[in-house]
Formats: sequence, structure tokens, C-alpha cells
Amino acid sequence: MRVSEIREQFPILSRTVKGKPLVYFDNAATSQKPQSVIDALSHYYSHYNANIHRGIHTLAEEATLAYEATRFAVQEFIGAAFVEEIIFTRGTTESINLVANTWGRQNIDAGDEIIISGMEHHSNIVPWQILCEEKGAVLKVIPVKDNGELAMGVYQELLSSKTKLVSIVQVSNSLGTVNPVKEMIAAAHKVGAKVLVDGAQSAVHLDIDVQDMDCDFFAFSGHKVYGPTGVGALYGKKELLENMPVFQGGGEMIKEVTFERTTYNDLPYKYEAGTPNIADTIALKTALDFIKSIGKDQIRAHEAELLAYATAQLEAIPGLKIIGNAQDKVSLVSFVIEGVHPQDIGVLLDNMGIAVRTGHHCTQPLMKRFGIPGTVRASFALYNQKEEIDVLVAGLHKALKMLL
Ligand code: PMP
Repeated sequence: MRVSEIREQFPILSRTVKGKPLVYFDNAATSQKPQSVIDALSHYYSHYNANIHRGIHTLAEEATLAYEATRFAVQEFIGAAFVEEIIFTRGTTESINLVANTWGRQNIDAGDEIIISGMEHHSNIVPWQILCEEKGAVLKVIPVKDNGELAMGVYQELLSSKTKLVSIVQVSNSLGTVNPVKEMIAAAHKVGAKVLVDGAQSAVHLDIDVQDMDCDFFAFSGHKVYGPTGVGALYGKKELLENMPVFQGGGEMIKEVTFERTTYNDLPYKYEAGTPNIADTIALKTALDFIKSIGKDQIRAHEAELLAYATAQLEAIPGLKIIGNAQDKVSLVSFVIEGVHPQDIGVLLDNMGIAVRTGHHCTQPLMKRFGIPGTVRASFALYNQKEEIDVLVAGLHKALKMLL
């Protein structure tokens, strides 16, 4: 994999910040976009902007075809059996809320239990809390071990006939931990529970095969896989999606409307009310094509090198502690430095053109678990290189001189 050639495809990577070349290490928050994705957006608006599905004119047909082509691309990207199992949403957050509001409302009753983990993003905590409160159900939490892995023994003990749903992150956005979701799904299915996998962080790094994983639902966001913001997908097993109540009401999700009674559309349109995010959805296919053209194996190998290099370099900094040392990790390093607030480091690094994320990363309970206010998080993408990690390490030394 030629990183220099890949970098050339990302125009933003050649800009400067505060007079320094940009070092972009906030990929877990959102990835940068290749020129092809940017072009796909502008091409749509310049050449075939139209509303989809309803029009018979040429523009509407072209737009519909391109929009539906992305559905096939997502199907292939995550290995779904049927294209109608792919529902377009605004992203992971909306996908999870969709399941909570439809499947959840239909299937969760008083006394039922929902299991999540101690490393969930707020978007995989709050929707279940709201549902539990409404239904009188109970939220159970798998603890996180000191090394940032889940306490699998406790998970086994939490599972029971009361468990109706396990909703679990595949890759932690704060620690980088890769959870053994396949094994967890098999265990949940043994007690009759359904499983939702939050793939917001995993989709860009790991090979996703929802059939092999056997998850019931899978959610991810376009903007973290080199695609645009405002679009993502929910995968659900066909028989579940077919039997769930509708999410939002409006155009497109109906078959026939009378004032007495409305019948609903077939999958996947049943869950896609109103004019969707056409342009971004179309450009999402371009992003998935970009990933495919490089190959996840190549990406993973390059990112593993970056992770190993960064871990070794950062650990050598006195007082620096990496939070989360799971055996299986993606290319993300979260750390704290004794006597220094993460935010102060973030501000000083920004002055040197280095973009990292500081804070709780929308995982406040996880920060509490580790007894810290937050971390500095450097997350790497396929276009990052070792030289940039050297810049980060030098920047940290400089920042520490100022702060300590
Ligand atoms: N889950 C995880 C693990 C995430 O990292 C994120 C995004 N930071 C989300 C869910 C929510 O994704 P989005 O904001 O794109 O809906």
C-alpha cells in the first residue's frame, strides 16, 4: 500500500493548521474524504439532482439508480444476505434509536433485561435507558477490565432467560478494544436474546460479515468510513425487520393512505420516511468503492504497524499511561499524562497543527470506571504515516515542557 499515493487523494491533508502541516489523528471522530467522494457529491448536484423513487423523468431515474446502487454496495460491504435488509439512516445513532423505538417498543416488557457494556458510546446507552424507563425493564452492564477488555465471565453470568437484547460495541471508540462479538452473539442467542452490534468504529477497520457474525442488527456511520456525514445504515435480519412496527410516518414508507387506515411499504422503504439524504447516500458508495479498491487486509496491516509504532513511542514518554491495552485493538491510542489535563495537551498540540481528540469521547461511564476526566486520543487511518507519529511525540515533549 503506497501511503503517499493515497494521501494525494485526500485534498485536506495538504492544508496547514496554525502554519504547520496538518497531522490529522481524529479519525475515530470522523475520517477525511477522498476527492472521489467530494466529486460524487458535486456531480450529483451539478448533473442529476432530483427526488428519488417517485419521478418518471430522467433525472429522477438516474438519482434513484445511484441511491439504490449504494444499498447494494452496503449489502456487499457488510455481507448481508438480502439488499432489503439495509435501511439508510442518518448514522449509527439514528440506527440504534430506530431499533429501540420499533423492535424495542414491541418486544421489551416490564422485568426484561437489556445488556450493554461498560465501554458503550452514549448513543448505545441512552436509547436503552429511555426504553427501560418507559417499559420498566432493567439495564445490565458488562464490566470493563483494567486492560480495556470486557469481563466475559460476568457477561456469561448476566445472560439469562430475562435477557431480551444485548447491544454491544464491536470496537470501542475510547480504547480501541475489539470485542469478541461473534462469541458474545452465540451466547446471547442461546438464551433467546437478540443482539445489536454498534459498528461505528469497526466498519472502517475490520472485515464485516453480518451473516458470519450472526448479529440481528448492525449499525454504522458513513462519515467514519471515508464517506459523507448525515448518512449511515442499519442492517437487520429480514424476518425481524418485516415484523417490527414502523419508525417514522410520512411519504415513501406507505403503500396506501386513507383517513381510516394506512398500509405500509415493503422493506426497506417501510423504515425510510420522507425525502432521504440522497446526495450523501450516493457518495457513500464512492467511499465504499475507495475502501474496496485498497482492501481491508492492506488497511489493517498498515494500521497495525502504526498502532505498534505509536504505542512504543508514546509509552516511552515519562508519566504517560495508555488506557486500554487489549490484545485485539484497532489503530487508536488513548492516554493520560500524570499532572496534565488532557484538554491542555489538545490545545497545545493544535497550535502545532496536530488534531487529536480530548475529553470523554461520549463514554462518560467508561471514564468514571478508569477514574479519569478524559483522555487524549490519537486515532489513525489508512492515510496516516509513522512520520506523523514522530511529529505527535515531539509535540507532546514540547507541550509537557510548557505544562510541567
Ligand atoms: N458508537 C460509537 C462507538 C461511536 O464511536 C460513535 C461516533 N463517535 C457512535 C456510536 C455514534 O455515531 P454517529 O455520531 O455517527 O451517529
